[in-house]
Amino acid sequence: MTKGKKASTTSGREKLAFERVERSKLVQPEDVDGVVEISLRPSKIDEFIGQERVKDNLKITLEAAQKRKESLEHILLSGPPGLGKTSLAHIIAHEMGAKILATSGPAIERAGDLIGILTNLEAGDVLFIDEIHRLSKVVEEFIYPAMEDYKIDFVVDKGPYAKTIKFALKRFTLIGATTRQGLLSSPLRDRFGLSFHLEFYEPQDLKRIIERSARILSIEIQKDAALELARRSRGTPRIANRLLRRVRDYAQVKSHATISLETVEKALRGHDIDEQGLDALDRKVLRTLIENYDGGPAGIESLSATLNEEVDTLVDVVEPYLLKSGFLKRTSRGREATSQAYQHLKASKNSPSDPRDLFEAR
Ligand code: ADP
Repeated sequence: MTKGKKASTTSGREKLAFERVERSKLVQPEDVDGVVEISLRPSKIDEFIGQERVKDNLKITLEAAQKRKESLEHILLSGPPGLGKTSLAHIIAHEMGAKILATSGPAIERAGDLIGILTNLEAGDVLFIDEIHRLSKVVEEFIYPAMEDYKIDFVVDKGPYAKTIKFALKRFTLIGATTRQGLLSSPLRDRFGLSFHLEFYEPQDLKRIIERSARILSIEIQKDAALELARRSRGTPRIANRLLRRVRDYAQVKSHATISLETVEKALRGHDIDEQGLDALDRKVLRTLIENYDGGPAGIESLSATLNEEVDTLVDVVEPYLLKSGFLKRTSRGREATSQAYQHLKASKNSPSDPRDLFEAR
């Protein structure tokens, strides 16, 4: 028995070591991609491609604040991941000649963390809080007076010894980013003077983003290849840049000097991206809806349980593009696959896995 136990400990250790190696392998390319992503991030408003309405409004706001020599009002940026919220926050700070401090909702765990950040801000500085909908309620309470009156009251000790310490803050600008505007409490939402929603990009804009990234990374890509890549990037610049790097890898291995349409098609097939730009998870969601729920409606919780995927992943990452591109419908009773989804997956309305079909066949 002791022997058996020992053996199992050793194998456990080996497994751990193996996992570590695997993890480091996984992390490394991500890190490399992370560095590349920063180098591709536009730093001036004119380098930020597309989203014309947001840019026009922002330019006016920036110019007016500069003329008045005032700091900007607090700004809320919303929209699906990878559309450029973080880039815009940096651009805004850059255009205002301001320092930017970036953090995220889940990173600010205690009110003390927030107070530390806020009291270190200088006049005009920008505080960027990504995923602001994930701020804890306690921290949120401290943010209200900070945003409104540039002050915070901090109570130390309890009962008769309780003391309120008041901090006066410099006039800073808070830029919040969120993928889920609906989860923001209304008092928090109301304290933003400006709110901009980023939409998915059209293929022509994504093509320009791909061509700009290709120039920065010294990659040669043909026009039709860039457009095809753009069409398959789920309307998202981050995905466009990621696919460009995967296609470049493929071209390098195959010794193709220039990326052609054929290179794009072959490389993307290897990465399981179909002609509509849907990836394996997108198709899995649609297929599950069709095969397990007869096309829906299905509640997001049960869909998440069947798929073994987090609700947040489905709602933030998968669903928005499927809704926008007409593969999915959201009704009061849940999610439904559209006829476009059936056509795309070559599924029939009376899928044989439908239990009612099996019952009738008997
Ligand atoms: P988000 O904060 O919304 O998740 P990011 O700002 O991090 O998105 O954008 C992801 C990447 O996409 C950036 O590094 C940048 O290279 C690219 N990107 C996003 N929007 C644009 C744009 N409008 N023009 C050029 N590149 C963009």
